[in-house]
Amino acid sequence: MTRPSIAPSDALAINAVLVSSRQAVDAICDRWTLALVLAMLQGERRFNGLMGRTGIATRLLSARLRALEAAGIVVRMPYSMHPLRHEYHLTNMGSDLADVLLQMLRWEQNWRSAGEAASRVVHLNCGEPLHPELRCAACGAPVGARDIELKLSRAQLQHMPEKQSVHRRSTVTSRDRPFSPQMLGASLDIFGDKWGIEILLCAFFRIRRFNDFRLCTGISANILTDRLERLVASGILAANNDAAGQAGYWLTTKGVDIYGVVVAVEKWADTWLRSRYRSPVRLIHRACGHEFRSLTTCANCEKAADRSNVGFGTP
Ligand SMILES: [Zn+2]
Ligand SMILES: [Zn+2]
Repeated sequence: MTRPSIAPSDALAINAVLVSSRQAVDAICDRWTLALVLAMLQGERRFNGLMGRTGIATRLLSARLRALEAAGIVVRMPYSMHPLRHEYHLTNMGSDLADVLLQMLRWEQNWRSAGEAASRVVHLNCGEPLHPELRCAACGAPVGARDIELKLSRAQLQHMPEKQSVHRRSTVTSRDRPFSPQMLGASLDIFGDKWGIEILLCAFFRIRRFNDFRLCTGISANILTDRLERLVASGILAANNDAAGQAGYWLTTKGVDIYGVVVAVEKWADTWLRSRYRSPVRLIHRACGHEFRSLTTCANCEKAADRSNVGFGTP
């Protein structure tokens, strides 16, 4: 067993990033949660409709809806008094997750295997099927992963909440998942898994080696092995040896392209969850020098694509 190869201070800094993302990851990085938000964006509001649409079992659906209500993502409103019946609406905080789903759609479209059906998501501005793009909100230029500089603000690290325990319920495995909406196949496998996300975030900070992943995340060895294998199988990471002959994991081009979803989740977390502290990560758009805020646009008309002007299809 080799020792970790990164400095303890770097591991602490990356761990702080994970802690700052954890509230968002815990709130939304769950396969059922994302499936429910998508069904609601498509206009489904009632319990039976959501159950039919997603295939979630009754008790699990009740639990998820309660959790979404507690998180402020969903609000429950009566639509009948006799007998009392409720329907579920996305709050502004919940509808804002549309941007995260659109960035997942962008990634799916880039990496969809030939023959897979196209989604029915439409940009209502131009009436065309939506192909989401990612631009810089400050200067409007299209932005690729390598156009963004990641900066760790060490000063900000002092204002972070207490380091939280990493022990939490693991999400369901792919073998338990009957639901796979066309629009979000592979990305639900990735973003529905909290451990997978933490490993992915570490990879964006150039963590490569097994023991370094362990040091930064605190994930147990068997779960880490399982998740690394899954990320390699789905083509997000590639296993290779580094210059020193040590085994490591690198983001593939397909893996790097997930940056759009990562920045969308960061933006959502900054808007809705981080009132008392800022993320210790600063993103800078290299070309214009401004702090990077993502803007999702339509490749066809180049106008903004958001929850107000995107048709997610009907349930
Ligand atoms: Zn810019
Ligand atoms: Zn358009």
